[in-house]
Amino acid sequence: MPEQNGQSLPSYLNPLEPGPWGSYLQQVDRVAPYLGKLSKWISTLKQPRRTLIVDVPVELDNGTIEHFEGYRVQHSVARGPAKGGIRFHQDVTLSEVMALSAWMSVKTAVVNVPFGGGKGGIRINPKNYSASEIERLTRRYTSEIGCIIGPNTDIPAPDVNTNAQTMAWIMDTYSANTGFTSPGVVTGKPISIGGSLGRVEATGRGLFVVTIAALKDAGINIEGARVAVQGFGNVGGTAANLLAEAGAKVVAVYDHTGVIHHENGINTSKLISHVAQTGGVAGFEGVNSISPDEFWSLPLEVLIPAALEGQINESNANNIKAKMVVEGANGPTTPKADDILHNNGVIVVPDVLANAGGVTVSYFEWVQNNSSFYWTEKEINDRLQPIMHDAYLATAATAKEHNVSLRTAAFISGCSRILEAREIRGLFP
Ligand code: NAD
Repeated sequence: MPEQNGQSLPSYLNPLEPGPWGSYLQQVDRVAPYLGKLSKWISTLKQPRRTLIVDVPVELDNGTIEHFEGYRVQHSVARGPAKGGIRFHQDVTLSEVMALSAWMSVKTAVVNVPFGGGKGGIRINPKNYSASEIERLTRRYTSEIGCIIGPNTDIPAPDVNTNAQTMAWIMDTYSANTGFTSPGVVTGKPISIGGSLGRVEATGRGLFVVTIAALKDAGINIEGARVAVQGFGNVGGTAANLLAEAGAKVVAVYDHTGVIHHENGINTSKLISHVAQTGGVAGFEGVNSISPDEFWSLPLEVLIPAALEGQINESNANNIKAKMVVEGANGPTTPKADDILHNNGVIVVPDVLANAGGVTVSYFEWVQNNSSFYWTEKEINDRLQPIMHDAYLATAATAKEHNVSLRTAAFISGCSRILEAREIRGLFP
């Protein structure tokens, strides 16, 4: 077992173990040489600040009792309360939740919103349970993690298989336990209980702002730029539609129902209505069907993976002919594929920058809850735009200064901000 300061590391902190936390530790090691005197504090990035594992017993509709394992990890609170989603999935592990919480610390720092990083999850396949069972699960989990979450300490949000309704149950349970209504304990809530206008589209809108800035930087005109997007939900659908409105040609869309293509461009606003009515892109009129392999090989200016993790991997990375990949999903590019794209001269705008519009508007939601004063959708969008644009410019400048990829540059600026806060606060006692 590897050692740190002469002490054996617990297995879940072992960088030689495969898994998301191991990948995160490797990313941190990669930025260490660029942190200057702040590297003295780097070990504080390699330990989550607080890790809570809870048992969540639930009485099922048939009267039996089942136990689920739940987690809440606060990776860093050096820059502000922990912030990050809650995931219900059968593959949730402590390693995954730790890594996702650490990536949230980096993401909030890259866009410089005053939050740290957190994440939570329950190991469950929610599709096998009724809505009332999921409500009981959510409420019991909230009670169990209630000792560490709160509007000033740790603020959950939706993630895979959780949504605005889940946030409403968390907010209600937390409020019932504390004795007063506390909208700021979660973000991504329904508008009627303090959610923010513009939150649903925020990640796609932020992705759009960053894509425009990256195209300009690369000397590529948005007018007529060929764009393909995998995932046509909140993130991919919004980003594709905004890019089309700005003059781009969305030539292909790939979702769980199929892959559609038209070399003159697909009408994205009609496609949004079609997906809302039918559940997917399949059956959209006036386009051709292509295979996933053909999708990944299209000649493009911009490729946007906005569906799932690991979609760009060793099997397709060498075929990618896009000039630029802008990551809407979290972790859509495997580390090996990332190296292949880099060697092939493909610009990759990383997830911790490109999809940070969501957490930025979550920050706006929290600010509105704290002040009980609500903004218009225009105010939200007008405040989001400069934050995303400036974050891109700062990351691109760091990449040029150190001659590194945008991903490494984003990690340099994110980790530097976290460690600056750590250093100036000092260690207690
Ligand atoms: P969504 O559920 O609205 O849309 C998901 C899309 O992915 C759908 O179009 C679906 O058809 C497609 N998809 C699912 N399985 C697929 C498959 N096997 N092959 C091809 N396409 C498939 O989700 P979303 O909110 O748009 O999130 C998309 C990604 O962005 C996720 O990875 C999410 O974690 C990430 N993300 C979302 C936000 C946010 O605020 N919504 C913020 C940061 C990151």
